[in-house]
Amino acid sequence: MEQIILAKCGEIVLKGLNRNRFDLILMQNLKASLEDLGAFEISMAQSTVYVRSLSGADMEEAFKRTQRVFGFAAVCMAYVCPKDMESIKALAVECLAGPLGEAETFKVEAKRSDKRFPLKSPEICSEIGGVLLERFPHLRVEVHHPDVTVTVEVRDFGAYVHAVRVPGAGGMPYGSNGRACLLLSGGIDSPVAGYMMAKRGVKLTAVHFFSPPYTGERAKQKVLALAEELRVYCPGMKVTTVQFTAVQEAIRDHCNEEYFTVIMRRFMMRIAHEIARRTRSGALITGESLGQVASQTMDALQLTDSVTDSLVLRPLIGMDKEEIVRISRRIGTFETSIQPYEDCCTVFTPKHPKTKPTLRQIEQEESRLEVERLVEQALETIEITEK
Ligand code: ATP
Ligand code: MG
Repeated sequence: MEQIILAKCGEIVLKGLNRNRFDLILMQNLKASLEDLGAFEISMAQSTVYVRSLSGADMEEAFKRTQRVFGFAAVCMAYVCPKDMESIKALAVECLAGPLGEAETFKVEAKRSDKRFPLKSPEICSEIGGVLLERFPHLRVEVHHPDVTVTVEVRDFGAYVHAVRVPGAGGMPYGSNGRACLLLSGGIDSPVAGYMMAKRGVKLTAVHFFSPPYTGERAKQKVLALAEELRVYCPGMKVTTVQFTAVQEAIRDHCNEEYFTVIMRRFMMRIAHEIARRTRSGALITGESLGQVASQTMDALQLTDSVTDSLVLRPLIGMDKEEIVRISRRIGTFETSIQPYEDCCTVFTPKHPKTKPTLRQIEQEESRLEVERLVEQALETIEITEK
């Protein structure tokens, strides 16, 4: 039985005059994600994308990958047959045995985009419905809330039938809503923050700070592994690594311990701001959640933001740790995030950080540092990894 994938567009259907642009990016992303599986014919009609294999590709794998492409609300696997009622009936009975066997109620919907087909949609529905009731006598028709909706569609290239619809990845096509730099640590939160903005269509460049010899090679490898896991959603994402040792040592040597974390976070923002400028990124993304730790109080966040005029996006700001962990498990980054390697944030952490630092205090501390030189030197250590 030939299979075909149908992917229903999500939020982009609400777009007006610029809809075309979103459609194009969506189609490109889908094509790229299926590329190595073989040749496909991919077309769009009435907000549905149709994927047919031209070379016997693994359709189950293609189906899984389509479910991970941002921009689709739902994805179905359909079965194809010639455009005559006998074939459609035979196909329906054969391919729906699984879902209908377990259901109590069903309905049939028909669409006829090939207007030369002799039966009209309501006639197709009643004939197919009749055959299914005969074959699966335990079923009842229920038009409002059926357990299973069987869809029959007659199109130019043939007819197809499907009944199983799974949720798509949702969101907007990756790359359709600008670029941003994701401050990616080895923790649980920042990969989730990156995923959430990627889902809104933002193309990401990851920026990671590490502090050899205080942080080891395995800690860096862990972050690169997280980046690789994120590339499922953010194809081609580059990772920029920055050596942060000199900055942290300078803070340790010259500043009051209570302010370490906020000062360190301000350096991260300054450096990330410059990387954003160089990569033409319109925003910085962090994984902070209000009140989670001392550096994430409103006062501390404000001080962190005040060193940059970049837009700072914090998609996790209103979320509980439990919700963040749930997403992290679902997207597949959790197991890597909890590997116990040190992050530069855990180097020289104060025992009693200030939860309400003031700008005056912080500026006084920073006046003992050569801020610009430290930023410039850190920028000289940049390495870019892409895969
Ligand atoms: P995460 O789980 O993302 O590490 P966290 O709750 O541990 O977050 P912090 O360590 O205070 O929080 O860091 C806050 C945010 O700063 C992170 O979510 C991340 O965006 C950024 N960040 C922290 N450490 C690094 C790092 N080493 N490299 C890049 N960004 C970092
Ligand atoms: Mg962290």
